[in-house]
Amino acid sequence: MSRILLLIVFVWILYVLLKRFFAFIQSNQAPSNKSVLADNIVACHRCGLHVPENEAVMIDGNAYCNHPDCHRINNGRSESNLS
Ligand SMILES: [Zn+2]
Repeated sequence: MSRILLLIVFVWILYVLLKRFFAFIQSNQAPSNKSVLADNIVACHRCGLHVPENEAVMIDGNAYCNHPDCHRINNGRSESNLS
């Protein structure tokens, strides 16, 4: 009789351990779906180069790349756009 009781306890422990094991595997696989390309890409207003928004320089609401020519032209005078 005690052998049957021992067997039932053993099976129950095995069941709990397997349940925890599969829950652990599922929790490890789930969050790997996060996108790396979360940054917005904007085009430079002068040369058209596409740069991430956090690296772009914003002048008068327009995005510019980090190229010195794109900055220098817009620093001295205001750009005359046909907007
Ligand atoms: Zn540029």
